[in-house]
Amino acid sequence: MIKEKQHMSLLITGAKEMGLTLTDRHLEAFLTCYQELVDWNQRFNLTAITGWEKVLTHHFLDSLSCLKALPREELAAGARVIDVGTGAGFPGLPLKLVCPEVQMTLLEATNKKVAFVQHIARKLKLREIEVIHGRAEELGRDPTYREQYDWAMARAVAKMPVLVEYLLPMVRMGGAILAQKGEDAAAEVHAAEAAIVTLGGRVQQLIPVKLRGLAETRYLVVIDKVAATPEKYPRRPGMPKKYPLR
Ligand code: SAH
Repeated sequence: MIKEKQHMSLLITGAKEMGLTLTDRHLEAFLTCYQELVDWNQRFNLTAITGWEKVLTHHFLDSLSCLKALPREELAAGARVIDVGTGAGFPGLPLKLVCPEVQMTLLEATNKKVAFVQHIARKLKLREIEVIHGRAEELGRDPTYREQYDWAMARAVAKMPVLVEYLLPMVRMGGAILAQKGEDAAAEVHAAEAAIVTLGGRVQQLIPVKLRGLAETRYLVVIDKVAATPEKYPRRPGMPKKYPLR
């Protein structure tokens, strides 16, 4: 506990750099997330990262860095956001903690991870949050979810040509997707150019992000939805990954 308290300053300064002032309630919520993550991780393999400092930077601050791309006013006005392949809740959960007005959907294909995120949402008494066990390829075809979101986002889920087939169908016209990527973001986007056009997207920008304690530059890839996604996409589960659009 002492150790966690000491390193809170890392979270506070990191968040400041993104224009966020964290309150004691925020810090408590992040601490609860951390403790539950470590506790559940002893039973289920949710994440390879369990050290407090690493979780702060690689999970919490890396998730919050999405705020460099997401317009704050839109979020505060109750934007609809879906985090696809959220795993143990990243990046969607930290974003929801600091932007409580967001209508957040967290989608995950693995049961135990869904159970964890549901547990956290209950424990923190979060509202306007929907945790769904399912696959992007299914939700993208379901009228309840297709073209319903202002933003669809993902971290560490798939290579760009595959990822755009998961994300673009979820977004309304005029909305956008946000992919958190590593150093080869530009090359990945280049390889996905045809897929992006096919699915109704247009690359808006790549925003470089430097995180404390992380040597590599990270990128936020923002792609606008400028045309409706053709009805045949997304293809059925497994197909986007097996035969990425080219
Ligand atoms: N976004 C989290 C987890 C990354 S691991 C993080 O950055 O920490 C990738 C996760 O995506 C896994 O939990 C996997 O189950 C999920 N996933 C992969 N393909 C998916 C799909 N088609 N639909 C829903 N979830 C998917």
